[in-house]
Amino acid sequence: MEISSTRLIALNVSFNFIPIGVHEVLLVNRVGSSYRLQHPSIELTSLAEDILRGSTITNLINRFGNGDAKQIASLKEFLENLDRLGALRSDLDLQSVSAEEQERFKANLSFFRSFEKEEETAVTFHKRLRNAHFLLIGLGGLGGPLLDFFARAGVGSITGIDMDVVEPSNLPRNLLYREDDIGKKKVAAAAENVSRISKFTRFRGIDSRIGSAAELIRIVEESGNVDLILLTADRPIWSIIRWCAEAAMQTGVPLLRNHALGVGPFMIPGKTACPFCEWNRLKANFPNIEEIMDFYRRSPDARATSNIGTIGTKIAIPAALMAQEAISFVTKTEKVQTFNAVVRVSFFNGLHIDRMELPRDPLCDVCGTEKRDVPSA
Ligand SMILES: [Zn+2]
Repeated sequence: MEISSTRLIALNVSFNFIPIGVHEVLLVNRVGSSYRLQHPSIELTSLAEDILRGSTITNLINRFGNGDAKQIASLKEFLENLDRLGALRSDLDLQSVSAEEQERFKANLSFFRSFEKEEETAVTFHKRLRNAHFLLIGLGGLGGPLLDFFARAGVGSITGIDMDVVEPSNLPRNLLYREDDIGKKKVAAAAENVSRISKFTRFRGIDSRIGSAAELIRIVEESGNVDLILLTADRPIWSIIRWCAEAAMQTGVPLLRNHALGVGPFMIPGKTACPFCEWNRLKANFPNIEEIMDFYRRSPDARATSNIGTIGTKIAIPAALMAQEAISFVTKTEKVQTFNAVVRVSFFNGLHIDRMELPRDPLCDVCGTEKRDVPSA
């Protein structure tokens, strides 16, 4: 590495800086070798922090050289020593992200640094978000906050489907809309608000309500390159879940569903449980479930969240969980928690977060691998 250049540098991922004093650091690599580095006139703790965040040689010299030729020379010598030990690497791929984008997403980039491996850098993870396309079904109490999270996180493309208008009763729990959105179509208000949040996200609204699996399949195919379908709408009850699972199965696009005050399962078509895999188990436990569902289908308003009653903070928690799962999945950073499982948050008698296994049902009507031999009643 040419130390005198303005090249971007960062700490090689296989090294750790351990400050042991203001002017002394211990450099430890993964095979356990350690090097004690001292510099009497430079605060090495702050310098280490800057290098960890990724910086340019010029920025480091401006910040720590104090305009003093001797100080600059010794700073360069210190960096050369680091380089000789193999502790520095060029952050060349950072140059493929504009300065404005780097500034906007600097906290994300710092966060992604902790997942770096030799061939996957913070920029790789950031670009996976930038290139991602999410399809949100429903822009209500869950879909609204999800859209907000995704736009702020730097997801490049989002398509949202909803045909409702923003109502005053949406405002206590939907973080995306404001008073002056009341009466507007949710897709229109969402488009305006996303453009105010971030120029780095393209949003396309579809003013419609899903009425069949075929309709959703058509939308997924027309939208092109959808990486993940996120189901947040809950009506028509169970039918919407079945249509989404069928569309995922048919198109091969993964699906993540919200689950009453929780999240999951995360369906990788043909590999992990689909959300309809729960149906046979529900039927076994509640023999009259079909009648209950029929009642809700005949009186859809009985199921409206505003009638059940909720408060915005309680929806924000599963919304954040769902957004995190989607981001972990698409960036390939953290482990997805909801493959073959549902993560639920409950507030009865204190806060409980539990993970319920939801294995794939071989007899599932949507994704099952075995033919049903039970005659239908
Ligand atoms: Zn299934």
